[in-house]
Amino acid sequence: MITHFETPLLESRALSRRCMKTISLKMEAWQPTGSFKNRGMGYACSIYRERGAERFISSSGGNAGLAVAYAGRKLGVPVVVVVPKTTPERARRLIAREDAEVIVHGDSWNEADAFARSLVHENDAFIHPFDDELLWMGHASMIDEIARSASQPDAIILSVGGGGLLCGVIEGLRRNDWHNVPVIAAETVGADSYAQALKANRVVNLPAISSIATSLGARAVSSAALRAATQHPVESAVVSDAAAVAGCLELLEEHRVVVEPACGASVAALDADLPALQRARNVIVIVCGGVNASVEQLHAWSRTLAVA
Ligand SMILES: *Cc1c(COP(=O)(O)O)cnc(C)c1O
Repeated sequence: MITHFETPLLESRALSRRCMKTISLKMEAWQPTGSFKNRGMGYACSIYRERGAERFISSSGGNAGLAVAYAGRKLGVPVVVVVPKTTPERARRLIAREDAEVIVHGDSWNEADAFARSLVHENDAFIHPFDDELLWMGHASMIDEIARSASQPDAIILSVGGGGLLCGVIEGLRRNDWHNVPVIAAETVGADSYAQALKANRVVNLPAISSIATSLGARAVSSAALRAATQHPVESAVVSDAAAVAGCLELLEEHRVVVEPACGASVAALDADLPALQRARNVIVIVCGGVNASVEQLHAWSRTLAVA
């Protein structure tokens, strides 16, 4: 059963000329539900089904919940997604369109999450948005694809929310013997739970998320993401919301693709002053995607953030 696509590794002439390096884009925005989440969620859900799961439960109103809904539909397993009242109508509609049952519960994600977990019975599988080894195994397939078609890059840039993508990419680099390829972990100011954890050398709980990059808005990263940085070279880049939106607009103009600021942050990180980037000639940016942004919204953010 196909729960994700192979995606192109696109050489960006526009970004390459601007950065004076070869910049290639791994186009995860072209997955069936618009983000890399189809890889991990698809893999995890198929394994849970093999183990006997008769229902999948998620508490993500974002790209993770949408990917679980898609995987459930493809695998013929019913899906329940519990979201808080704050989840936009559009996101609820997209999840419902994948035939998942959407339950609205609570004022915050924590309340929705607690309710979702209370629904989990013996033959259900709870699908975590970022902290599950099976997700990482699935996300890692993007590196397998790159390794089949390209030579070893000098650096890989990706965005970090809870750290599932990061753990998956590092798993992929390890299993392809690309142990020395540094990973640049991009976040926005106000959603920088990974940068703060690296600095403190322990998982840090942000009091609140103040960035528009809501898909990066895990208040704490997984302990596995923190541990990964002790086993693999990782450098952190924290960019402004305005820079992340500018990254989105650059992808829109040059490559005709709409992504969330969560993804634009990785494009913005190309300009970060980091040792791994200064040395690099060949850089891959994981275009992680995200469906919760429209062209109008990107332009509106661009206007308001420039004024601020
Ligand atoms: C989920 C997501 C992220 C963050 O991924 P984590 O695994 O939580 O670190 C980044 N960008 C987009 C578009 C996402 O959907």
